[in-house]
Amino acid sequence: MAAAVRMDEKIEPIFQEVIQRNPGEVEFHQAVREVLESLGPVLVKHPEYTHHKIIERICEPERQIIFRVPWQDDKGNVQINRGFRVEFNSALGPYKGGLRFHPSVYLGIIKFLGFEQIFKNSLTGMPIGGGKGGSDFDPKGKSDSEIMRFCQSFMTELYRHLGEYTDVPAGDIGVGGREIGYMFGQYKRITNRYESGVLTGKGLSYGGSLVRTEATGYGATFFVNEMLKVRGQSFEGKTCVVSGSGNVAIYTIEKIHQLGGKVVACSDSNGVIYHEAGIDLELVQRLKEVERRRIKDYATYHKDAKFIEGGNIWEIPCQVAMPSATQNEINGRDAKLLVKNGCIAIGEGANMPTTPEGVKVFLDAGIAYGPGKAANAGGVATSALEMQQNASRDAWTFEFTEKKLEDIMVNIHQLCYETSEEYGVPGNYVAGSNIAGFIKVADAMVALGLI
Ligand code: NDP
Repeated sequence: MAAAVRMDEKIEPIFQEVIQRNPGEVEFHQAVREVLESLGPVLVKHPEYTHHKIIERICEPERQIIFRVPWQDDKGNVQINRGFRVEFNSALGPYKGGLRFHPSVYLGIIKFLGFEQIFKNSLTGMPIGGGKGGSDFDPKGKSDSEIMRFCQSFMTELYRHLGEYTDVPAGDIGVGGREIGYMFGQYKRITNRYESGVLTGKGLSYGGSLVRTEATGYGATFFVNEMLKVRGQSFEGKTCVVSGSGNVAIYTIEKIHQLGGKVVACSDSNGVIYHEAGIDLELVQRLKEVERRRIKDYATYHKDAKFIEGGNIWEIPCQVAMPSATQNEINGRDAKLLVKNGCIAIGEGANMPTTPEGVKVFLDAGIAYGPGKAANAGGVATSALEMQQNASRDAWTFEFTEKKLEDIMVNIHQLCYETSEEYGVPGNYVAGSNIAGFIKVADAMVALGLI
């Protein structure tokens, strides 16, 4: 089953040019390589893509915006951060993709995320293009007022590039409901327009959608459930490990528990909580969502839980692993360890959490490996459902919206699986998601002409 694919010799020079034109942006190179490695057989079936230089064009963002974000901290000191928005591809709809606030953010990270977003959004079947943005601002340890001042300053520049038919951001690492609220408030104030569809992930009191908060984690779990079904398995009784303890991790844990699995570990950037009896989700939610504390405090409430400072969560044996923190958190060694310890399925809630060496280990081992651009597409799909509700001034129930999310994830899984079969690599969801996501965008780009 599922051998890794090599880059086609016609595509290799295009990739070399991407590296040369975007020096130092290693995450962007990694994301481009991973997609381009899948596309050789596509060019054989679709020579028109070569003629129209679709691959060359898709690797070049339509627009990149970089701006200064000045703000004042609580002591009255002036602080300066850098803001980004990369509007990558609008062949299928307005640019859509989250904002990340994290000190590691630079152009290469935003471009990797924006590039992945093009194909992910295409897989959802919704009319949305791909984009991503953010800042090197570190929200950790900041007061509420500092967060608000930063968000207002960030939006004071970004607003001119946004619009419900132009570009619609959402959250990502470091950007949740609180930040979206402050940014929406500033957008409304500057433009004097109550344009609900300009941001997603909004609070329920001002145009948000039920299930958006849960969507990425729930969706990733639905995707893994489908992969397990193909193998005649389910979550019932499975031991699972979920990295991170933020938005995606929390709702992944919740859905795994609902489907009969047991999550025994989660983490943050300081360390790992191992709780053999099963993670107490209510406590994680209180610590992280309400009190904004560190995950190590979990161990003070449960004497049978262990906090492993600086620990590696992938050393904990599990049957299902769902990386839900950040990029490149599983390397080749971690992947080998997971396989050796009996892991049969990986579902990526995070974007590009596995290094290329790790991906190769999973594909060679023939285990079910669901890459982020397919597995975590439920977040952006539910953002598109939020846009639909805003456009029709409607608000759907939780059950109705969750059912729609589940149907979307089942369809994405089926599309990726059928595409992997069509291209002779059945069960290789990397090839399936890259090819299926690419073809839809490529066809639209051909149809729209040279723009
Ligand atoms: P949050 O900010 O809510 O949580 C992020 C979690 O990951 C925190 O526990 C954080 O720990 C940890 N983390 C972040 N950066 C690092 C790092 N460099 N090293 C170790 N741990 C880290 O973000 P989300 O849950 O929204 O996002 C998690 C992942 O899911 C990201 O890859 C994101 O791109 C992806 N994603 C998110 C979507 C969404 O709808 N939110 C949609 C699709 C994908 P700490 O607090 O210590 O930093």
